[in-house]
Amino acid sequence: MRVVLLGPPGAGKGTQAQVIADRLGVPAISTGDIFRANVNGKTELGLQAKSYMDAGDLVPDEITVAMVKDRLAEDDAKGGFLLDGFPRTTAQAEQLRDSLHELGQALDCVLELVVDEDELVRRLSGRRVLVDGQWVQRDDDKPETVRHRLQVYREQTAPLSGWYDSEGLLTQIDAIGAVEEVTQRAMSALEACGGARSDGPSAG
Ligand code: AMP
Repeated sequence: MRVVLLGPPGAGKGTQAQVIADRLGVPAISTGDIFRANVNGKTELGLQAKSYMDAGDLVPDEITVAMVKDRLAEDDAKGGFLLDGFPRTTAQAEQLRDSLHELGQALDCVLELVVDEDELVRRLSGRRVLVDGQWVQRDDDKPETVRHRLQVYREQTAPLSGWYDSEGLLTQIDAIGAVEEVTQRAMSALEACGGARSDGPSAG
């Protein structure tokens, strides 16, 4: 199955991506994780991405799209994947669709995790990640950067929801609740869009 997980920063995409991908038996591909690994490893790609990430801005499309194309060409992604954090602009979505088309592939489902903004700010400000055995705040989770990232999301990424809806691929789920509850909603939504998308929602 080929799935895109959409949702604002702090919606729980990373956590859900891992669990859902395991259940589907496909790799979870997180562009944020790939960028962070490159920044930590001080690679050329990392150097290119770092200033954008530190500012809470998007890394330019051409850098991001090239990186994702390379990743999707790897063997483990041939039978399916779950993308987390990509696409984030309509241009990225169009290029993803075209690249998959060239490979004779297409997305099966776009799942959007919906959380209201007050809850997002609360979650992001309190979020800590494990680095070298220590729980630390990500630089881009600092309050000012968080507000900027949410603004970037609203302006550049939120329009993707309507774009994917018009492509007939979008399913939204409520992402507030315990991790397992949200996973359960996600799995039901994926079953519905993988198996019965053309039937539309049932009346009952
Ligand atoms: P994330 O872990 O998904 O919140 O991503 C962290 C940061 O990586 C973002 O704030 C961006 O700077 C960068 N990034 C991740 N994915 C993308 C993408 N699809 N397009 C542009 N920049 C991205």
